[in-house]
Amino acid sequence: MIKAKGFGVKSHGETFKPLEIERREVGENDVMIQILYCGICHSDVHQVRNDWGGSSYPIVPGHEIVGKITAVGKYSRDLKVGDYVGVGCMVDSCGECQSCKSGYEQQCDKETVWTYNSVDSLTGKTTFGGYSDIITVNSRFVIRIGTDKDLAGIAPILCAGVTTYSPLKKFGAGPGKHVAVVGLGGLGHMAVKLARAMGAEVTVLTSSESKQDDARRLGASRSIVYHNKEDIRKSGYSFDIIVDTIPANHDINTLISTLKPNGTLVLVGLPERSVKYSLSPPILMDSNRAIAGSNIGGIPETQAVIDFCVKNNIRSDIELISFSYLDKAYERIMNNDVKYRFVIDNSTI
Ligand code: NAP
Ligand code: ZN
Repeated sequence: MIKAKGFGVKSHGETFKPLEIERREVGENDVMIQILYCGICHSDVHQVRNDWGGSSYPIVPGHEIVGKITAVGKYSRDLKVGDYVGVGCMVDSCGECQSCKSGYEQQCDKETVWTYNSVDSLTGKTTFGGYSDIITVNSRFVIRIGTDKDLAGIAPILCAGVTTYSPLKKFGAGPGKHVAVVGLGGLGHMAVKLARAMGAEVTVLTSSESKQDDARRLGASRSIVYHNKEDIRKSGYSFDIIVDTIPANHDINTLISTLKPNGTLVLVGLPERSVKYSLSPPILMDSNRAIAGSNIGGIPETQAVIDFCVKNNIRSDIELISFSYLDKAYERIMNNDVKYRFVIDNSTI
């Protein structure tokens, strides 16, 4: 094993501290990456707080990783030392089941190995994420970044980007379609940029007065600040696709009522485990509406969204921070005070 530096939380409720961690040696299918930047996803916050249950400590989060390859194994595709690459939410899967073969490694029949808080199938040890200096990853899970321009703004595309790109593609966002994005945060602001770049009309539903101008700057033709259900209900029968990124309990029936006939509400926000939504069936049936969930995206989709963003010069709007700011950043995410993604400068380790 190789010694590495990480920043993590040793047990539930503690603050971030420097931790000594280990990475596996570079195997024949692996690459070693020097991490340059890592985004902070709200899922990191949920897992550090154990909102979903099942967090194991110590936890070193981070699944929006951008870095430079420093070593390659014998069979590491055609990746080379010096290449700029990304790693998202997954670092391994069986590679043989139907889901893996179809490019949906996040649905692996056997086991998806998550970038952190998971078990490394080769070493049997806990995986640690991108709040660190280096990482060893199976080359199948490494995304090529065809540029060295604005790399910090690319990091959030590895999760926030692909998580919104995947359902936008699946449900046909494009010219003639109207997409609503609910919650203008890390995922939401990427959804606006991506849907607009795909040619769709975009409306933002936000609870924050201060984000109205940004919504338009990011590409929305309209933004609606809502304070209650009535403010949302006024948009009845407007949207073909709703991308709902809210990380807390809320009323999905009101959102469904704003779908056009045959429209789809896609849930991507993942509140704490105890949250249950209640559904009023006629709201769905009346206009053949649908409700769907979407979990990140597979490796081919992650490569596709990176290529799409590089081609269209799309980056995340970020606030670059050092490791010493992590606790404050988490507090600010909890207080809905980030425009629109914190990204760690990993050289500050
Ligand atoms: P974020 O940056 O904190 O943004 C969430 C946005 O939702 C906020 O900016 C805010 O937007 C709105 N919001 C926050 N709290 C709210 C509340 N109590 N009621 C109503 N609106 C609220 O979070 P994120 O990184 O985008 O992640 C959003 C959610 O998606 C999290 O639950 C995360 O775990 C989940 N996620 C899921 C996947 C997946 O694969 N499905 C992947 C990544 C993340 P406004 O100020 O505009 O209202
Ligand atoms: Zn994430």
